[in-house]
Amino acid sequence: MAYNQGQGGGRPQSSRPRSGGFGGGNGGGRRQGGFSGGGRGGRSRGPAKKYIHPSKFINKATQKADEVVYESKHKFADFPFGAQLHHNISAKGYVTPSAIQDQAIPHIIEGRDVIGLANTGTGKTAAFLLPIIERQSGIMLRPSVLIVAPTRELAQQIDEQFREFSKGLNLYSTLIVGGVNIDRQIRDLKRRPHFIIGTPGRLKDLMQRKLLKLDNMTTLVLDEADRMLDMGFLPDIRQIVDAMPRERQTLFFSATITPDIQALVNTFLNNPETVSVRTAETSEHVEQDVIEARDKTHKVEILTEMLRGDDYDKVLVFGETKFGVQRLSDHLHNSGIPSVAIHGNKNQSQRSKALKQFKDERVRVLVATDVAARGLDIPNVSHVINFDTPQTYEDYVHRIGRTGRGGASGRAHTFIDQR
Ligand code: AMP
Repeated sequence: MAYNQGQGGGRPQSSRPRSGGFGGGNGGGRRQGGFSGGGRGGRSRGPAKKYIHPSKFINKATQKADEVVYESKHKFADFPFGAQLHHNISAKGYVTPSAIQDQAIPHIIEGRDVIGLANTGTGKTAAFLLPIIERQSGIMLRPSVLIVAPTRELAQQIDEQFREFSKGLNLYSTLIVGGVNIDRQIRDLKRRPHFIIGTPGRLKDLMQRKLLKLDNMTTLVLDEADRMLDMGFLPDIRQIVDAMPRERQTLFFSATITPDIQALVNTFLNNPETVSVRTAETSEHVEQDVIEARDKTHKVEILTEMLRGDDYDKVLVFGETKFGVQRLSDHLHNSGIPSVAIHGNKNQSQRSKALKQFKDERVRVLVATDVAARGLDIPNVSHVINFDTPQTYEDYVHRIGRTGRGGASGRAHTFIDQR
């Protein structure tokens, strides 16, 4: 089986996501020819696909010895949390705060607004949850905290972490996401949880039905704000924020600051403190190759053959369309490679089930669209495979950041057109 290892990869290259394009003379107008053309059926999302030079997909992993380990200024014990919260943090096995936790928690605990420039995998969830949980003790009015995230899965992961950190504290949360029965959420809201964790569409829906009132809220968290904007949630977010008291604490997390994001920060936050841990970008530890293929059929052949290899333990494959992702996963499964898919055409319980099967290593391969995979915390991914090229270089960095986490080495393969 022939697939090319990318050459010329020794060139040091910053893989940091940047606003406004991805450097290197892409000219903006050229389209990646060949595969997936016309296959984007149904939904048009974002601008026309930009050409990304294959050299962008190649970056030899740096030596781990070069890694500068972040030295935390605080220990968890230094934070002014109650005994039970400290106990819950230890029970979860956290010993040292991550960079975002170390730097953001002191400001949040003081009640300041914070902009956190951090992506998934940096520990940002605990960075906001822990101090907010601490600040909730003694607050009588509820619900008082609203956490908004771009995807159902991310909201669910935040809720899971909330439940672990709030054990024994008599604090309750409700998950308000689309794709699941609304009646149960309405019943849950009537019990006045302290925390509401949700996605913009369903939150707005319940607000419009006057079943969700935000006028007593003290705290707002917007997680992965850049992704929410990409997904077209801005009008919903504005409506949600407008329904909250002006006097509140706002925590705003985003991997990038674009002019659009800056405008939001200026209107939503009050004298914020900025904490940036973007230097913790993960792709530097990812060995990256390109694989040339003639056409889609050829890509499927190569992929199937590759995945039969022994070291492909936990593989995340990215495809462009919901339909294509499902079809590829079915094909792999039928070829004897246990695989599941997540995409927007699956309902919430199907998505959760697929994700759990992959996390628990009952299947080796998860095929996903970018939107479905956004923000998901999936540990120990051995390989990321870009079956379809990402729309932007930023998406590429985001995708491959799923492997090579926490100092582990990872591999990323990207299919490109054969010349
Ligand atoms: P997040 O970026 O919030 O999605 O977190 C990524 C992963 O790191 C999650 O599995 C967290 O449970 C884990 N994590 C976060 N903070 C710490 C910490 N201080 N020590 C160990 N693990 C952590």
